Amino acid sequence: MNSTCNRFGSTCKSVWINNFRILSGEWYLLDITPTPVKSELRQVITGIENEREIAIEDGRLIFNKQCSNDSDEISEEIELILEYLKPVSYKIAVFNNRNQNVLRGQPIAFSISPKIDFLNFPDHPHLNTPNVQMGIPASFCYTDSPNMLGEFTSGDRMLDALLLITEWAFRHQIWQATRKKINRGCWVGKQLPTSIQNYHYPHFLDSNEKCHCGSGIKYKKCCYQRDKSDALSKGIVTFDRRRIIEIENSVFNKLREHFQ
Ligand SMILES: [Zn+2]
Repeated sequence: MNSTCNRFGSTCKSVWINNFRILSGEWYLLDITPTPVKSELRQVITGIENEREIAIEDGRLIFNKQCSNDSDEISEEIELILEYLKPVSYKIAVFNNRNQNVLRGQPIAFSISPKIDFLNFPDHPHLNTPNVQMGIPASFCYTDSPNMLGEFTSGDRMLDALLLITEWAFRHQIWQATRKKINRGCWVGKQLPTSIQNYHYPHFLDSNEKCHCGSGIKYKKCCYQRDKSDALSKGIVTFDRRRIIEIENSVFNKLREHFQ
């Protein structure tokens, strides 16, 4: 693992966490700055958009010249932020999950810093519902097609996952930059639908925070009433903000402790 990790610009250090029934086991720290160099930004973005193969060098996305296509265009919104885009570093904890019953046995990743979760980014396009029993916080990176990651026993499986995660971090960077510039985040390429529904929000989003719809106004003055009646009609009472924060903090703090 250590040698193959060099492509990702970090020596992966594995730790064990025993507090969680499911998430006990091997964790790796991914220390990456996925932002491509200026001259390759366009090509990497359109490459992700069109599902062409992207490569990695020292934790940075690089353009794979064989798949070049100069005619690709970038959306107007993303065009607005390209010249301001500065490299952003991510510290990502990756759990080498081998339990078939948990996300079909694929590696699970959380960004430790910056923290990507619904308390910081309630309008993030594909936050996941936290799993209280398993101790999985709300914001993890995963794929709907884990089979493409290869076999459990193969080191390539983890490498494929690391590539996916590096792309994910960069796509988040673009999303955050457009969100800052035009108040609405743009996600590059295909995305899985979020598992968090509007009727979940009254249980974990403070009514004084910005609404999850991206309007930029306070939740209580925006979608709150509608969400709340929706939740009532569905009898949704399973989300406990405090419990979710507790889980997040315990996972994140434990990882931070180990990775420092
Ligand atoms: Zn709203």
